[in-house]
Amino acid sequence: MLKLYNSLTRRKQVFRPIHDKKIGMYTCGITAYYSPHIGNMRKYLEDDVLKRMLVHKGFSVTHVENVTDVGHLASDADTGDDKLRLAAEKEHRSMKDVAGFYTKMFFDDCKMLNIIPPDIVCKATEHVHDMIKLLEVLDSKGYLYKAENGMYFDTSKFKGYGKLTGLSFKRLNAELKEGARIGKVEGKRHATDFAVWRFSTPDQKEMVWDTRWGRGFPGWHLECSAMSMKYLGNHFDIHTGGIDHLQIHHPNEIAQSEAATGEKFVNFWLHSNFLTVDGGKMSKSMGNIYTVQQVIEKGYSPMALRMFMISGQYRQTLNFTFDALSNAEFGVKRLYSFIERLQENRNKARNVDTKEFRKKVRELKSGFFRELDDDINMPEALARLYALINETNSRSESTKLNRSEARTVIKAMLEIDQILGLGFSGRITAKPAKLDKEIQVLVDEREEARRKKDFDRADEIRAMLKERYQVTLEDTKEGVRWRKE
Ligand SMILES: [Zn+2]
Repeated sequence: MLKLYNSLTRRKQVFRPIHDKKIGMYTCGITAYYSPHIGNMRKYLEDDVLKRMLVHKGFSVTHVENVTDVGHLASDADTGDDKLRLAAEKEHRSMKDVAGFYTKMFFDDCKMLNIIPPDIVCKATEHVHDMIKLLEVLDSKGYLYKAENGMYFDTSKFKGYGKLTGLSFKRLNAELKEGARIGKVEGKRHATDFAVWRFSTPDQKEMVWDTRWGRGFPGWHLECSAMSMKYLGNHFDIHTGGIDHLQIHHPNEIAQSEAATGEKFVNFWLHSNFLTVDGGKMSKSMGNIYTVQQVIEKGYSPMALRMFMISGQYRQTLNFTFDALSNAEFGVKRLYSFIERLQENRNKARNVDTKEFRKKVRELKSGFFRELDDDINMPEALARLYALINETNSRSESTKLNRSEARTVIKAMLEIDQILGLGFSGRITAKPAKLDKEIQVLVDEREEARRKKDFDRADEIRAMLKERYQVTLEDTKEGVRWRKE
C-alpha cells in the first residue's frame, strides 16, 4: 500500500487514485532562461522515481510537464520584468531563441540521466488562449481587479487561500509584508494577491497578446492552472514541485483553479527538498553551481549522478560533494559487475537446497518495494538492495550459485532497476557467448604474453583493446575478464 506525504494535509496518506488505474500527474517544469544545474535536476529525478513506482504498480500514468517560456517575473513582488525577456536582452537574442536553447539543454540532460520523458510537454506560449479562457471565467466570477501594471487575483475572495501552507490568510499576508513585498505595485490590495495578466510596455513587441484587459502577457502561476486542467481535467491525482513553490506558486495555482471550477484541484501535493553543495546553498558567488554537463566533463558518469541524486529521501535536503559522487560512481560500478558475475553464474552446475536462498532473495526484493511504499524511503530501500547483494555474494562464495538461483537474483535486480533506472538489463544482454572472436583472440594472446613474462607485449595488447575496441580488462581470481565501455 503506497503512502505519500501530502503537503495539503501535512501527513502521510494512503494513495488512492481518482480513476481506478489511471493517474494524472503534473510537474512544474523549468523556466527556460538559464542552464539548468544539478540542484534543478534533483526534483525531476525524484519525480521520475515516483512515476516509475506507479508504473511498476500497474497504474497508467499521464505525466504532464510545462515549460515556462513567458511570464515568470524576476521578482515575487510582481514588479520587475519577465525573466525570459531579461535573458533575451542580455544575450541579444529573441525570447523564443533563448527558451528553445535552454529547453533543449534541459531535456538533453534529462535524457542523459535516464529520466522518462513526460507524456505531454506543454509550453506556456502555446497555451495563452487557454489561459485567457480561464481568466475570463475568473473575471466573470469577480476574482480579478486592475492594478497599475496588470490584472490581479484578489486572494481575499478565495476562501481557504494558502491552505497548502497551513497558515491563515492574515498570517500569510503579514509574512509577505514583512518581506517588504507589498506597496511596490500601485493598486495591489493584499500582499498575497498576484498578477494573472501583466500589461506590456509599448516597446515590448515579442511575446505579447491582445486581450480585453489590454495588451500584455500571462502571469506565471496562471499557466500551470490552465495547462494542467486542460490535459488532466479539473481534478487530478498528483502535483509535484520544488519545496520553493510551497509558499506562493502552488497556493496561487490552487486559488485560480478552484475559484474557476468550484472543484477540488489536486489530491496529492508532493514537494522535493533542496540539493545543497558542500553543506551550503548553491550560489554564483561561491562558484559551486554545477550543470550536469560540467559534472560529466569532470569524468563522472551520468548514472553515478543519477544514483547519487535519487539515493536520499526526497523530503530531506541532500548534500552534494564530489566525494559523495565518487562513492556513487563506485557503487554503480559494483552493481554492474555484480550483474555481470550473475550472468556468468547462470551456466554453473546445479546444487541442492536452493529453495531457501531464493525465498530470501524474493523477501529482500519485496523489502525494497515495501520501503518505497513508505513515502519513497529510498535510503531504506537501497539498504534492502545491498542486503540482497551481500546475501548473494556470500552464497556464491560458499557454494556457488546454481542456474535457477542466479536467475532469481537477476530477475529481482531487473525489477528493482525498473525504479532505479540504471540500465541493468543492458549489462545482462551482453552475453559472454556472443563475444567478438577477434577480441577474445587478443585477450588470449595477452594472457599468453603474461605467462611468458613478456609484459611489454601484454601492455601493448591491453592498450590496443582499449583504443580499438573500447574494451577494458579486469584481472580476477578466476582469470581475466573484459567488458566494453
Ligand atoms: Zn507550476
